Amino acid sequence: MLIKERLFTPGPVPLPPQVIKALGQQIIHHRTPEFTNAFLQVREKLQKLLKTKRDVLMFASSGTGAMEASIVNFFSEEDTVLVINAGKFGQRWREIAKRYNLKVIDYEIPWGKTYDKEKLIEILGKYPQIKGILVQQSETSTTTYHDVKFLAEKANEMLEDCLIVVDGITSVGVYEVYPEEVGIDILVTGSQKALMLPPGLSILYYSEKAEKRLDTSNLPKYYFDVKAESKKQAKGQTAYTPAINLILALNESLNLILDEGLENLAKRHEVMAKATREAVQELGLKLLSESPANSATGVYAPEGINADDLRKQLLKIGFRVAGGQDHLKGKIFRIAHMGYFDFMDMIQVIAGLEIALQKIGYPVEFGKAVSKAQEIIREVL
Ligand SMILES: *Cc1c(COP(=O)(O)O)cnc(C)c1O
Repeated sequence: MLIKERLFTPGPVPLPPQVIKALGQQIIHHRTPEFTNAFLQVREKLQKLLKTKRDVLMFASSGTGAMEASIVNFFSEEDTVLVINAGKFGQRWREIAKRYNLKVIDYEIPWGKTYDKEKLIEILGKYPQIKGILVQQSETSTTTYHDVKFLAEKANEMLEDCLIVVDGITSVGVYEVYPEEVGIDILVTGSQKALMLPPGLSILYYSEKAEKRLDTSNLPKYYFDVKAESKKQAKGQTAYTPAINLILALNESLNLILDEGLENLAKRHEVMAKATREAVQELGLKLLSESPANSATGVYAPEGINADDLRKQLLKIGFRVAGGQDHLKGKIFRIAHMGYFDFMDMIQVIAGLEIALQKIGYPVEFGKAVSKAQEIIREVL
């Protein structure tokens, strides 16, 4: 029997037809007015997405490249940084910072939780030398949302010279993320998450305050050189060969995003996430996160059932969902709802989950979770 494979993973994500079409074109040369024109259009649309007139740079790399760029361009050896480390991607901030000989204050948080506000204030009070706070707005490995605004406010209030460095890889395109309003100094994102593209493109915004650091940073950099790229990209070119087709495809996905409107986009993600969360709880399953993000929903498999076996069942009937990493492997599964998903996609995956659970031996009353999701979705249709 034909079974379609539907991607419900938090990266890569399904591609809209407009993006697929753009990717299927014959390549154009990048040192041409045609490319420059498209590049400048994309740049302007990225500025609209983030509500800024400042530089929004593009690199040919996965998201981690832009994370590395935010360390090597804006910090110096021995600078102290605070890492909000609540999962796999928080660990990545710590590793990059350590690799470049920064002094890391590692605020480790149990997976599935966000930072504690009192504790944060205590840390900021104890270490006035902190030069940067590194955080995920949405920690994809645990599907947890961290309140970046509070971090920025407190850092501003309590510290002399601190940059708020935000990995927005699964928050940009899911939430309204406006760095200038929130006080984010460096914001990075990547193509294969809510921007609805294949992997290979990363994006970096930096504030006026962060820009001052460009002249003093003493860390080595070659490819990820913000100053060099900034000059080129303002004129519609890049220092090295750009990810040409991805940039042309980004032009299309940004049209979709801006046409929907950022408020609508954020609402859609909120409702999809809420419907998923409430539906799985209706089945008696437990959420992984105490501060769940709207990009993906992490769920514990029922007692006695291996989450990876459940995922195999789901795949058999047409749904590819993600598992857990490290100590969560086999314990949780994650359903993505960022990017090219709508409400009925959620109904579909929840219906599939009911079947997969029953097949694997967990008692399910068909329709219970689905009708919960329908109720929530109906309110916005
Ligand atoms: C996917 C992801 C990344 C980047 O991973 P790459 O594989 O380098 O694209 C970083 N942070 C978060 C929160 C992510 O979800």
